[in-house]
Amino acid sequence: MFDRKAQLLKPKELKRLQLLKLRKTVRHAYRNVPLVRRRFGEANVKPESIRTLEDVQKIPFTVKTDLRDNYPLGILAVPQTRLYCLHASSGTTGKPIIMAYTRGDLERWSRLMGRTFDVAGVRKGDIVQNMFGYGLFTGGLGFHYGARAVGATVIPTSTGNTKRQLMLMKDLRSSVAASTPSYMVYLCEASRVEGYEPKRDFSLKIGLFGAEPWSEEARKRIEDVFGLRAHDCYGMSELYGPGVGIECENRNGLHVWSDEFLVETINPDTGEVLEPGKEGELVFTMLSREAMPLLRYRTRDLSRVFEEECECGRYHPRIQRIKGRSDDMLIVGGVNVFPSQVEHVLMNIPSLGDQYQIIVSHRELAQLAVKAETSADKLNDPALLKEIQSDLFAVLGIRAEV
Ligand SMILES: [Zn+2]
Repeated sequence: MFDRKAQLLKPKELKRLQLLKLRKTVRHAYRNVPLVRRRFGEANVKPESIRTLEDVQKIPFTVKTDLRDNYPLGILAVPQTRLYCLHASSGTTGKPIIMAYTRGDLERWSRLMGRTFDVAGVRKGDIVQNMFGYGLFTGGLGFHYGARAVGATVIPTSTGNTKRQLMLMKDLRSSVAASTPSYMVYLCEASRVEGYEPKRDFSLKIGLFGAEPWSEEARKRIEDVFGLRAHDCYGMSELYGPGVGIECENRNGLHVWSDEFLVETINPDTGEVLEPGKEGELVFTMLSREAMPLLRYRTRDLSRVFEEECECGRYHPRIQRIKGRSDDMLIVGGVNVFPSQVEHVLMNIPSLGDQYQIIVSHRELAQLAVKAETSADKLNDPALLKEIQSDLFAVLGIRAEV
């Protein structure tokens, strides 16, 4: 087992470590980041105020706009000469967010990714086809580091070029696929179009998928087509990148590596801290980050936290698979709609294809329309239209034009 001691930490030791690291990180951030010092001052909190793990609740939140407003490196906690690497988020509007790493940060991130690969069963001898984008995005290099940490062979195919992707997958006998779930769903169909019989032609046995919410139905489709075992991975660029959480063999939530990330859930509207088990917005405090020590970072991701021991023997708390990012949530006629709910419905209807489009129009009343694909003989089949409509209504509670 890779990094065995950390993977199997018992609750008491875990809590002791968390508190030790939390106090150290808080002192580091307070001393070196003017924004943190100012926020602590406004909240009348000092590093000495943090005496127990519960005291984390005294710390003011950090939000995405804090990072954007301090572009490019305004929240750096170390001299720039100590930086080993920089990444940037794909900002949808305006300036991106810059992520900075010291040598220690990169080593920690690699180790977290190594644990992630290990939990999914990836070993030396495995051939990892890494279809995450290499570059400023943290996905490509994050998964690359993980494969290297466990001693597997990595093929950095990066995104796109589907024909070459499939050819290498077959010829190099890739045993592990790492990609976004939507790209893997796309490959289900694309591989057949290109003349492959996936189970016969490919040697995939493990899949590591993340960077976007996906449904159980998408998982089932990927597993059925490729005959692999799919694990959900969680992370985000602000928190090193991928490597925050991973599903173990039981796949009943994702273990969060809590010796490095303290996880809380809050009510996204009021900021109130919720009991474990209650659904809310995930908030993470990075416990050892040197270059960018984020305290109580609000992710906008909605989930719940389970603290019970898992059958796998790990005590790292689990989070439920992400239903959606609160930023992705659509409000249609006063009803909350997540794209993953629409996906769930469409993937359960066998005569529909893998791709879909959700259209929200705001004329007088917000309206939801869904475009799905099917074979030519089923096109505009009234029975199929009715089935989709009534299934969407059953899940969403609103009518959608199909
Ligand atoms: Zn487990």
